[in-house]
Amino acid sequence: MTISVAIVGTGPSGFYAAQALLEKGIDCRIDLIDTLPTPFGLIRGGVAPDHQHTKRVIRTYEEIAAQPTVNFYGNVEAGRDISILELRAFYDAVVLAIGMPMDRGLDLIGGAKKGVYGAAEFVGWYNGHPAYRHLDPLLDDKCVAVIGNGNVALDIGRVLCKTKDEMAKTDIPDYAIEAIQGSPASDIYIFGRRGPAEAKFTNVELREIGQLADCAPMVDPEEIPDEIPGEMSDRDRRLRMRNIETFRSFAAMDPTGKRKRLHFCFRSMPAEILGKERVEGLRLQSTVIENGEAVGTGRYYDIPCGTVIAAIGYRMGPLQGVPLDIRRGIVINNDGRVASGLYVVGWARRGPTGVISSNKPDGDAVAAHIAVDITRPERPGRAGFEEHLQARGVRWVTFEDWKFIDEAEVAAAQEGAPRKKFVDVEAMIGLIEKGRADGTS
Ligand SMILES: Cc1cc2nc3c(=O)[nH]c(=O)nc-3n(C[C@H](O)[C@H](O)[C@H](O)COP(=O)(O)OP(=O)(O)OC[C@H]3O[C@@H](n4cnc5c(N)ncnc54)[C@H](O)[C@@H]3O)c2cc1C
Repeated sequence: MTISVAIVGTGPSGFYAAQALLEKGIDCRIDLIDTLPTPFGLIRGGVAPDHQHTKRVIRTYEEIAAQPTVNFYGNVEAGRDISILELRAFYDAVVLAIGMPMDRGLDLIGGAKKGVYGAAEFVGWYNGHPAYRHLDPLLDDKCVAVIGNGNVALDIGRVLCKTKDEMAKTDIPDYAIEAIQGSPASDIYIFGRRGPAEAKFTNVELREIGQLADCAPMVDPEEIPDEIPGEMSDRDRRLRMRNIETFRSFAAMDPTGKRKRLHFCFRSMPAEILGKERVEGLRLQSTVIENGEAVGTGRYYDIPCGTVIAAIGYRMGPLQGVPLDIRRGIVINNDGRVASGLYVVGWARRGPTGVISSNKPDGDAVAAHIAVDITRPERPGRAGFEEHLQARGVRWVTFEDWKFIDEAEVAAAQEGAPRKKFVDVEAMIGLIEKGRADGTS
């Protein structure tokens, strides 16, 4: 009694949901669907190009995709090529694993000026995401401001500060490395509303900033506390203390001779983007912490800069047939259950927090629900879905097609680099068509 499951989204949460279904031994056929012709979600389009070791997790996902009961349908967008309602009519269970593809907006006076970007678009640009590859961000000023105190802000700062040699063994697209290396940006400012003890940077990533070839981390020693006040677990205190020690080591470093500087600026909240049509500076308000909250002091200061990048979080866009909690920006759910036969996992379920493996328990929970909720097949599954796509003229990409793209990317890589990414959907589809025509794919 094989049931049909569609998983919409092939980032970590989509693959972990498929893995959990397989490991639980549920008799099912699993169809993985993604907007892009390429699988793996933010592993390909979010995780920094110089962190290839993190991307190795895709080997596990490839094993899942290779299972005989699993199919991949790339270049198929739920909401465009097929509605959620239609998917629910074809499949016994539909699992939403669609992540949070959009930036939480920077709600500031002047936030619409040229030169203001969200992290999703900026990171998508330097990662060759087809939706952002034409962003062409302004990087023509000595100073860039990054707002946010999490690892995404750190990724952006690091990618802007690394040398061409340091980026040689990455898959950053040529247009991005040329724009960054050709930019006069020498001073990157990272702003956080709270102090260094509250910053969300993980310590390994923070320490890496102290090892960059031609960039000095800058932090005001006066900002670094001797101890961390307040109630918290021993583990939390230990983790925060590690960052404090790292910041202390940064403050003791001699920046002389380094071409770039990465400035950590704390207790500062953005107030206004300055300039006429384009960014000319950022106005910030100093903060104090009261009852655990960062509160403005009414004292303002300005930083001249030509680019502002807001790494302040992500949200979902509307998707017909999916109930959204507008305030939290997630799909309304009860432990992953959304409606009869409809489930959610990953960022769309919990919000944009945690690391790759944090998405695994969501898959386990949803597989357990499906095992209980869906006891027999009632819907046409794959056959009905493919018929729908054919009728709509949708050119879907199979996992074998993706492997053909993958091999072409690896073959085109310059020495030391893992791959040269295709950054246009048309080019990927063209490659597959050509391969089919000449019998190489
Ligand atoms: C910039 C950045 C860097 C990160 N770096 C790290 C790191 O170094 N280490 C780490 O552990 N974690 C990192 N993370 C976190 C990690 O990437 C996330 O935890 C994880 O990707 C979330 O998985 P997900 O499946 O929920 O979403 P995603 O990975 O975003 O996957 C969602 C998928 O759904 C697809 N999709 C969306 N809408 C539709 C639709 N309508 N129809 C069909 N498909 C759709 C998308 O194309 C995408 O493939 C990073 C996150 C970001 C943003």
